[in-house]
Amino acid sequence: MAGRPTTVGEWLARLAPAEVKRDVPLAPWCTVRVGGAAEVLVRPQTPDTVVSALRLAHDTGTPVAVLGLGANTLVGDLGVPGVTLKLPPATFKEEVELDEAGGVLTLSAGASIARLVTLMKQHGLVGAEFLAGVPGTIGGAVSMNAGTKNGECLSRVVALELATADGLGWVAPPPFRYRHTELPPGAVVTRARFRLPKGDLAQSQATMDADLGYRKRTQPLSQPSFGSVFTNPPGHHAGALIEQVQLKGHTLGGAQISTLHANWIVNLGGATAQDVTRLMALAQARVRAAFGVELTPEVKRLGGFTP
Ligand SMILES: Cc1cc2nc3c(=O)[nH]c(=O)nc-3n(C[C@H](O)[C@H](O)[C@H](O)COP(=O)(O)OP(=O)(O)OC[C@H]3O[C@@H](n4cnc5c(N)ncnc54)[C@H](O)[C@@H]3O)c2cc1C
Repeated sequence: MAGRPTTVGEWLARLAPAEVKRDVPLAPWCTVRVGGAAEVLVRPQTPDTVVSALRLAHDTGTPVAVLGLGANTLVGDLGVPGVTLKLPPATFKEEVELDEAGGVLTLSAGASIARLVTLMKQHGLVGAEFLAGVPGTIGGAVSMNAGTKNGECLSRVVALELATADGLGWVAPPPFRYRHTELPPGAVVTRARFRLPKGDLAQSQATMDADLGYRKRTQPLSQPSFGSVFTNPPGHHAGALIEQVQLKGHTLGGAQISTLHANWIVNLGGATAQDVTRLMALAQARVRAAFGVELTPEVKRLGGFTP
């Protein structure tokens, strides 16, 4: 196995063009503003650099993590070993192809979910209303199969471009389910192609306005969080279960189970990943004891956590 680069200069010599930094605090890169530092943060400037980074990591036995907007990620207090890849918004070319029935929109994985909604509106298309107001990147939305009860991301995806250590290639959408897409192990989404139909634009806008109004009334949007903490167990609402075990507003260190929505944890200031993890464990234990229901985290844990 080849030697693993240690200095930024050594990484850059094998990866350019890319931005490479060492010991980068990741809390500012995650919406909940919690967690330690990335050992090496790589922002590839070209599609080929994504592949080079994956190949270099593979050849040197370096772990690789991918971070989008960090809107569904809890970074551990001990930080993330190895390489954390963060794709800039426009590493890959955006494309719009319109036809009689609608259009195909191709977006870079680092682009925002909001960009998809903007393009949909600009080109008179409909069908991705449920993604309006969901923070994150296209790569994160694909990987998480982001959505609401009104729809899910993968139902609109017709093709994905993936990078692996072997190169770049387009594939058909992989199998997906509630908040999960079966990406091949180690693959990084570099672009996604969405098929959207033409439709009633006034109705589309009204749906998005109603959704955003609902979010503002029911979710703590002004506080740092990662959205829903747990997936809804079949037949239940995670928030309702946590509320019924009297944990709404419960605070540990700087983290609080939101007073507005019990399936959200907010950072009141200075929260650690350990505070958040302990709150999650408390909610799981109380709900298990009261209802025999297992709460499964929706949030992805990244890096090392204090025991
Ligand atoms: C205020 C708020 C509201 C939210 N509302 C919703 C909602 O209504 N519905 C919903 O589904 N979610 C919601 N979320 C959660 C979050 O917005 C989504 O999960 C979103 O898709 C995360 O995107 P991201 O880029 O931030 O992903 P990240 O948190 O950065 O990453 C999430 C996962 O995707 C992987 N990933 C990211 N990019 C790539 C890539 N290019 N290739 C391969 N894997 C990748 C990461 O490794 C990680 O496992 C909300 C979050 C917040 C903070």
